[in-house]
Amino acid sequence: MNFKFNSPVQKIEDAVFTDKKIELYLKRDDLIHPLISGNKWRKLKYLLADARLQHKTHLVTFGGAFSNHLLATASAGAMFGFKTTGFVRGEEVKNDILFMCSLLGMQLIFTDRQSYQHKQELFLSRFSTDPEAYFIDEGGASAAAALGCSELTDELTETYDHLFCACGTGTTAAGIINGLVRNNLSTQFEAVPVLKNAYWMKQEIEKYLVKEALFNLHATYDFGGYAKTTPELLYFIKKFIAATGILIDPVYTGKMLFTVFDLAGKDYFKSGSKILAIHTGGIFGLLGMKDKF
Ligand SMILES: *Cc1c(COP(=O)(O)O)cnc(C)c1O
Repeated sequence: MNFKFNSPVQKIEDAVFTDKKIELYLKRDDLIHPLISGNKWRKLKYLLADARLQHKTHLVTFGGAFSNHLLATASAGAMFGFKTTGFVRGEEVKNDILFMCSLLGMQLIFTDRQSYQHKQELFLSRFSTDPEAYFIDEGGASAAAALGCSELTDELTETYDHLFCACGTGTTAAGIINGLVRNNLSTQFEAVPVLKNAYWMKQEIEKYLVKEALFNLHATYDFGGYAKTTPELLYFIKKFIAATGILIDPVYTGKMLFTVFDLAGKDYFKSGSKILAIHTGGIFGLLGMKDKF
């Protein structure tokens, strides 16, 4: 069940960085796998190992109708010989992500928003008699997922002054912070929550910290909330993609990179700073937003 791939780090050129005498690098976790992309492989790795260890052959998990986590779980399940079931939040819909989940063999169970709140109960109501069923929380949120994400920092061969990452549940952020601490790196962690006014993200991240650590939270770059966009964000994404050839999505990496560019313009970084941003993948998020562009 091991595929080990150190994602490459690529320099991003832009006039704002030259002007301010700073450097931006992008760690291309989106290249880890086309379907189990970005942080989702790091998050699933130890969960799948644990399922295997417990002789569980059926992964049961949860997500919205455009969930990168559902797609990643469906894909990892197919690759490594697990059956998969996804509880999908909301009424039955058809879209490109769910189409691929189905192709990969995932059973989809559409669930009203009320019942969806109670994930353990949902799991038990359907699978209490299936000894092979293995519960994976929405987005894979767990200490095991944070451990997988911490390994990102073991791959770094340079030292950076700042490290930026988009946050949904905050598990990836916590893992990376744990990794920075473990490797004695003084890199300043910069969390960019993609949900509305997510000042509570601080506590969510702290839940999975192995040791207390300081980090910055940029909670004002939510663009109206989860999966919400503005013309300004969409314009930035189009310009970035056309200038670099790197696809970024409006839900996560687009907002995170917008934050980096915006802060650079506002002199947030000292001259000479080296910044690392994590491309956490999820470019199929673009497919759910075609009509917005
Ligand atoms: C899931 C996801 C995230 C958020 O990861 P968390 O660990 O939930 O904070 C960030 N970026 C992309 C592209 C994702 O798919």
